[in-house]
Amino acid sequence: MIRLRIFGIGAFAFIALTVAGCGGSPDRPSTLPPGDPTTAPNAPTAFRGSGLEVSTEGLGSQEFAAAFVGERITFNWNRVERAEDYILEVGEGPVDSSVFTATVPGLTLDWNPTRSGNFSARVKARNVQGVGQASPEVTVFSVEPRDYVEWLFLGTGPHGSGGCANPGLLGGWRPGTAIRLVLAPDLPAQTVQTANSMASEMGASTLNVVTAHTSLSSDLDPQPQPGDLTLSFFVIPPTGGIVGQFFVIESGSDGFRRGRVLLVRGNDPTPHELGHALYGFCHHASAEISRLTTMGAGGRIGFRLTEADRRSLQAVYAAGLRPGASRERFVQAGLIR
Ligand SMILES: [Zn+2]
Repeated sequence: MIRLRIFGIGAFAFIALTVAGCGGSPDRPSTLPPGDPTTAPNAPTAFRGSGLEVSTEGLGSQEFAAAFVGERITFNWNRVERAEDYILEVGEGPVDSSVFTATVPGLTLDWNPTRSGNFSARVKARNVQGVGQASPEVTVFSVEPRDYVEWLFLGTGPHGSGGCANPGLLGGWRPGTAIRLVLAPDLPAQTVQTANSMASEMGASTLNVVTAHTSLSSDLDPQPQPGDLTLSFFVIPPTGGIVGQFFVIESGSDGFRRGRVLLVRGNDPTPHELGHALYGFCHHASAEISRLTTMGAGGRIGFRLTEADRRSLQAVYAAGLRPGASRERFVQAGLIR
């Protein structure tokens, strides 16, 4: 289920001030001109970090990078005139460099976060005259992959927030099911696109334990047959801010048999609801996680399975876990802590 959340979006007004008639001596500049060979180089201006695929849509800053603990984030930046090398710094917050520092002759460097958390990174250019100003900061979020698997499939752990269709057990469909995802005829094009995309990814994500395909119905209120998951609008919309909901209509000890996803018109929580309905995903409680998952808050997120979700699914299915698997099985397989 997902309830509508409104994110506050700050409005910023930029006011340009024109300063005229600035005084000063015409033959004695008060600062050295740019490019003077006796000064330290300027700050790199284009500093980026890339790791796990991240959605920043609707979430403000683009200066954000994410990785699983132990996996690399690649930083890169622009060349700065007169720089001889560059210093990359990573710390607990802005300015701090206590976590990682490296001197680099080139314009790129990989860093492997060794623990979960938020970090700040920046780069400075250097020459014999000194070290220049810092580039803009990049915020780095690193998450322990076992904690990610735990919230995604069990709704517990440091990022978990319940919301599982099959609490305490791995959710999902009975092995061998070729899910027919039945689409009502009045769904918006974007919802259909999401459904097609997420159904087509099902086989590769579960190592073909379960597959899915879409089928367009002429029924505005299609009822699921065995092996069906229907996607349609509520005939009578619910109250309480609910914008979409997944219902398990029939289930066995080895997984779902029939299900329905119902939506409220004017909202598109389809990726989130299909995360519940196709894969048994749960809820999380973290703004940073929201950028990494199909199960993002507010139902906004990419309209397909994210890289972090796909890799978690593949790890679970490759370890031999199947719907109905207990928490103990996750621990035995080393998938959670
Ligand atoms: Zn939900």
